[in-house]
Amino acid sequence: MGLGAERSATETAAPSRQVMEADIVCVGFGPATGGFLTTLAKHLNNSDGTPALESAVAPGLPLQVMCYERADDVGFGVSGVVTKARGIRGSFTDAELAEVPMATPVAGEKMVYLLDPTGASLRPVSFRVADFLLKATGKLDPWYGDHAFELPLVPPFLNKHGGWLFSIGQFSQWVGARVMGTGAAQIWPATPVASPVIEGDRVAGVRLADQGVDKAGNPAANYLPGMDVRAGLTVVGDGPVGPVGRALDARFGLPEGNHRRDWAVGMKFVVNLPAGCALKPGTVLHTFGYPEPGIFGFMYVHKDGVASLGIFVPSSLGSPVRTAYRYLQHWMLHPYLWKHLKGGTLRSWGAKTLGESGIRGEPRLAGDGWARIGEGSGSTNTLTGSGVDEAWVTGVQLAEAVVELAKAKKPFTKENLEATYVKRRRSSWVQKGAQAAGRARDGFHWGMEAGLAGMGLTGMTGGLLFMPASAPPLHKQVKKLGAYFGSRIPAAELEKMKAEHAVKGAALRDAVMDRLGWPPIPFDGQLLVSHQDALLMGGKVQAPAGYADHVVFIDHSICERCDARVCYELCSAQAIAPGENGLPVFDREKCVHCGACQWNCSQPRPGDPEAGIMEFRAGAGGLHSPEN
Ligand SMILES: Cc1cc2nc3c(=O)[nH]c(=O)nc-3n(C[C@H](O)[C@H](O)[C@H](O)COP(=O)(O)OP(=O)(O)OC[C@H]3O[C@@H](n4cnc5c(N)ncnc54)[C@H](O)[C@@H]3O)c2cc1C
Ligand code: SF4
Ligand code: SF4
Repeated sequence: MGLGAERSATETAAPSRQVMEADIVCVGFGPATGGFLTTLAKHLNNSDGTPALESAVAPGLPLQVMCYERADDVGFGVSGVVTKARGIRGSFTDAELAEVPMATPVAGEKMVYLLDPTGASLRPVSFRVADFLLKATGKLDPWYGDHAFELPLVPPFLNKHGGWLFSIGQFSQWVGARVMGTGAAQIWPATPVASPVIEGDRVAGVRLADQGVDKAGNPAANYLPGMDVRAGLTVVGDGPVGPVGRALDARFGLPEGNHRRDWAVGMKFVVNLPAGCALKPGTVLHTFGYPEPGIFGFMYVHKDGVASLGIFVPSSLGSPVRTAYRYLQHWMLHPYLWKHLKGGTLRSWGAKTLGESGIRGEPRLAGDGWARIGEGSGSTNTLTGSGVDEAWVTGVQLAEAVVELAKAKKPFTKENLEATYVKRRRSSWVQKGAQAAGRARDGFHWGMEAGLAGMGLTGMTGGLLFMPASAPPLHKQVKKLGAYFGSRIPAAELEKMKAEHAVKGAALRDAVMDRLGWPPIPFDGQLLVSHQDALLMGGKVQAPAGYADHVVFIDHSICERCDARVCYELCSAQAIAPGENGLPVFDREKCVHCGACQWNCSQPRPGDPEAGIMEFRAGAGGLHSPEN
């Protein structure tokens, strides 16, 4: 690795921007990059310690590999995880996986329909009829109890029998430590990558985020321009909302017909279950039907009385005032779940968005000097709800391709990467699964019934049948207040509530939920806590000084005219709030980096109607717990 310096004309008074040379630079350390580095590490050196794949920038040494992760720890992540681990088991034995803290073999799985015990849920007639019939016949029904119906079978396509439960934070830390232990790569946490370095049609490396700048990004005291890390191959594994992947999309475009319009925010708690809880380690519960029919939930029971649990609030829900945090609490309070949770304590909390377009959101996978892996490359299977294993496998495939090319002393050109990495990917089970799942979620754009029917059809026919629909652009998925809640709250009353809250400078979401009949949350200070307390109790929140704000409103004049300010109604951490004249203001001290603001805006961006007015950029910090 070599360090150099360059000084641009505009930076004459500023310190030099350092330049470092590496062979491979990776953006982000999630499961995809974990799979990449784990595989690559096995091939860099011969058994006698001599390099098997020699570096071009440091002759005599093996390939020089750098990896930059924006979060303050390599174990950042918010995810279940239940996984069949088909790909991960190609890298590790079960005995090795058992070493991962919190890893637990799947022991039993249930799919549960949750009825509405409160009467507040916005259920279509079909769900109300189903609830009525289930309650009426409940005493005779062995699968009914506690306002819930346990499906006699988990649909085979969702079944994770024989798989593993992990904490993604613990899994990533374990993988990261193993990779670093081999000396094969340096993994740098707390190091956001601002952008790719694009030269003509080639990616020549990455530029790290500037430090010593004010919130707007202007140089301040201690200004240190982000280093350029130049490399023959840039591996982009930055997840569903990564700014580097988005910059590549902006430069090279998505393949014809692909889009990134389906997304969800996933919010989770890790809890200590109360003493005597009946749930066995390895239990997996999937729920649907409550708090709103379109919200799916999960509970995974690890060993030692710890459980991961949470919900997914999809973009197709369309509500302009949805709050994942409160929905999560109502979900936990459902009698079917609360009987297991009452008396438990919160260990950690987190939120993260998921790309739900799957293969239809697939970007260009490779180009001259770069390749995409993981969820940002469209690998997540939106039918089976599985993303970790798939991301891992795409990383493994890229590593195998890199080894093949490096051994043959071929450069990392588009042509060579397509003939090796993309070819492997196209012929793998990940691709076949993603193709079958491609239209699984379309039906949700018609409504919950069509959505469930579509998933069932797709799952049972391996993708041959589905409920056809096309996802509207992001801003059109947000419904008008009256259109969404009009069946339960008169339009005039909604407008009055909206006007009153605008004057108070407050978000509307809780008032609407209260008016719909959602009961108050009985805060207990240990598991049911306020949103703000969850920020304090749920992990460590960091917002390091000296970086620019990573959430930016690119045109506040559009916000002034905006009628549905979903940015602050939905923000996962109340980090966006109404400020002067009701305009949204960002407070990074509260931001958990869920990334929802990249998708969640009710107005199209001028010149790019697929994007909104907010931009989620590279930033350090956020809320982090090593066991999320
Ligand atoms: C609540 C929730 C539950 C889930 N449950 C499951 C489950 O049960 N089973 C399952 O298989 N999948 C599950 N998933 C999906 C799964 O977590 C993802 O598919 C998987 O994590 C994708 O891996 P990845 O490596 O592609 O991306 P990510 O895990 O998103 O990792 C990307 C990394 O890149 C970093 N990064 C981004 N931008 C930059 C930058 N500019 N500079 C430096 N670093 C950057 C991020 O901080 C992150 O660490 C769940 C997701 C959520 C949110
Ligand atoms: S960021 Fe989007 S949703 Fe929020 S006020 Fe501005 S235009 Fe409206
Ligand atoms: S401001 Fe932060 S917490 Fe709020 S939606 Fe955006 S990324 Fe998530």
